[in-house]
Amino acid sequence: MPTYLVTGGCGFIGSHLVDLLVRQGHRVRVLDDLSSGRTHNLAPEAELMIGDVADVAIVTLAMKGVTGCFHLAANASVQASTEDWLGAHRTNLTGTITVFEAARSRAVPVVYASSAAVYGDSADQRLSEMAPTRPLSAYGADKLGCELHGRIAASLHGVPTAGLRFFNVYGPRQDPASSYAGVISIFAARALEGEAMTMHGDGEQTRDFIFVADVAAHLVAAMDRLLERQRDGKAAASAVFNVCTGQPTRIRELAAVIARLSGRPLQLQSTPARTGDIRRSLGDPSAAIRHLRIAATTALEDGLRQTLSRL
Ligand code: NAD
Repeated sequence: MPTYLVTGGCGFIGSHLVDLLVRQGHRVRVLDDLSSGRTHNLAPEAELMIGDVADVAIVTLAMKGVTGCFHLAANASVQASTEDWLGAHRTNLTGTITVFEAARSRAVPVVYASSAAVYGDSADQRLSEMAPTRPLSAYGADKLGCELHGRIAASLHGVPTAGLRFFNVYGPRQDPASSYAGVISIFAARALEGEAMTMHGDGEQTRDFIFVADVAAHLVAAMDRLLERQRDGKAAASAVFNVCTGQPTRIRELAAVIARLSGRPLQLQSTPARTGDIRRSLGDPSAAIRHLRIAATTALEDGLRQTLSRL
């Protein structure tokens, strides 16, 4: 039975991936330092190693005997990467190189989390993987660094890698303090308490929201493709893919749907626009559809319903 290592498996996205792998009948080992992840998120079938992803000895131990590694551990807060630049860098980039290094001796395939933050503000265009990368934060710069090292891992060290650029992920177990789709958790909590939802600026900003179960399915599809290539004796390759729906949602519209689904009247208040707030973020999912043979299938309203029902 294949065993997969999931770093960051006690976190929001990682714990949904673990659920999926367990459902598929795989053995799962998780490496997590529990800095933001919670043990109660974790399926009881998974083995948990508590430790730091930038610690070579523990990552080497965690990698022993695994068929593939999903690397999701990160300090996922853009704000933290500004305040604790070096600390976040150690987890986000050094941690990733540590994973690649540990994968090297047996050429273990690694699927890792990148982010739409690598694009920065490439406004007014549907972003394909060919769009210019202009990160605006240390977080985005480190994710881009992961992609560059993912290339080196494959070309110089024979480690097959795939980087998935997640857009705005939402769903049950998301920390409302997250700087990504936190807007959904915050709006949902406000609506359920009968309080007004606060939007920054005119609420006409758009985001590409993708449900967490769809993200887990993309991670597994990417791993399956890497393992397939390895079985066919193909040389180790590296690639990056957007993980998105290709559907823009306006923040104002999101508030209205959440209010309707929670059975409350829409109460919206506006505060001044935040400096540096990206106006539009929209991904092009066609490369994942073509090469990973997968697309997001959860409609926003269904995903929101599932999220609200777990609050
Ligand atoms: P999360 O904070 O819920 O999960 C991250 C997990 O990593 C947590 O369990 C945390 O305890 C663990 N971790 C942090 N530092 C660690 C370290 N040094 N050693 C070991 N474990 C450590 O975040 P998430 O939203 O589930 O994000 C998962 C991945 O997806 C991250 O790489 C993040 O950058 C990326 N991502 C998330 C989104 C999103 O919308 N949530 C968007 C783009 C990219």
